[in-house]
Amino acid sequence: MPTFSIHTLGCRANQADSEQLAQILVGAGFQEVEFGQVADCQIVNTCTVTREADRKSAQMVRRAARSGEQVVVTGCGAAQRGGAWQRVPYSALRLPPDQRENVLALIGAENCPSAAILERGWLRRDRARALLRIQDGCDQFCTFCIVPYVRGRARSKSLEWVVERVRQFEHDGAGEVVLSGIHLSAWGHDLDTNLADLVETILSSTSQVRIRLSSVEPDLFPVRLIELMQLYPRRLCPHLHLVLQHASDTILDRMHRGYTLAHYDNLVQEFVARVPGASLTTDLMVGFPGESDQDFEQLMNYVRRTPFSKIHVFPYSARPGTAAARFSQTVAPPLLHERRDRLLRLAQRKLVGFQRASLGQTRPALVESEWERPGWMKATSDNFLPLLIRGGPALRGHCLPVRLLRRWREAVVGEVQEGF
Ligand code: SF4
Repeated sequence: MPTFSIHTLGCRANQADSEQLAQILVGAGFQEVEFGQVADCQIVNTCTVTREADRKSAQMVRRAARSGEQVVVTGCGAAQRGGAWQRVPYSALRLPPDQRENVLALIGAENCPSAAILERGWLRRDRARALLRIQDGCDQFCTFCIVPYVRGRARSKSLEWVVERVRQFEHDGAGEVVLSGIHLSAWGHDLDTNLADLVETILSSTSQVRIRLSSVEPDLFPVRLIELMQLYPRRLCPHLHLVLQHASDTILDRMHRGYTLAHYDNLVQEFVARVPGASLTTDLMVGFPGESDQDFEQLMNYVRRTPFSKIHVFPYSARPGTAAARFSQTVAPPLLHERRDRLLRLAQRKLVGFQRASLGQTRPALVESEWERPGWMKATSDNFLPLLIRGGPALRGHCLPVRLLRRWREAVVGEVQEGF
């Protein structure tokens, strides 16, 4: 049986794309192995959002070339000219991200499933959670971001297409479907509808699978989604990854983000006040050109007073071809690193604070996979806490009430409540 492996860098949209590639290859008779093991086909799904992501992508292509007959490079890096991976001394096949369906032809596989099967998608047997990309491209053109140049204009999958896929995943036994996109909040703007309408239709067209939103941007975020979280507490996860990037309006403007801190904060207040168990996560960027001490302190103060449960911190790096790459007033590396480290320490304190505040609660948790220690499983709560619970693979795919007992590094140890 031919084998393949995939290494995925970057966002949930890339993860969803990798999942679809894996479905296609498994459907064609390939067997998946761990990345780094010998395989007939090694796929690297690259990210190019920062210089560091570009460097890691190139590193993974080098690693893939050491253990694979064929190396396929996809993701944003494959859509961009001159990415770091293109300078590695190996030949790799390039699969632009919007041509995933062509992977079998690209690698010369003989057993190609029909186009109808590829289009339908299905849940693999070892998965409890399905990732579904419902939107691609972006029209926002944030000044630091290369993605609109490599992914093209914003475009949405139709409402019917999405609902059908979610119904299929529910039928296949998925406990959770994660809706993802490059600019997920923009879903439907090219179809004269919006993300809240889509989520409401999904909830009324399915009966038990829970729905989670992947990363959302504040500018086009429909407030009605918060109301839906309140109305459907068991079906729509009380978790928002609402990307902020910065808390200084001057910097937000230079980034061309399309919202102010006041707009962002209104959404946060609404979310926290109306949704029980609300969990708020975000991405923040430090060291953007022109970021003064005052801008940075404003960011730190906003983070201190806002109930973030998890924060991804990105140090700014210029991406060739973006507007910000030409900006003056760059922040010197030692200062940028000092700010990054201060923010990372604060982010860690926020995470620990959220974990501690959650102890004693009982939350619905989706059991997903075996943990490294036998007799333990990994699960995720509705509000996105990684959990560890006692049990075996038979629990996979079940959504169970779990009482949260104590912290264990980045996770919380929980106990399944009686009656299950
Ligand atoms: S919203 Fe901004 S950061 Fe996000 S993909 Fe679009 S341009 Fe890039």
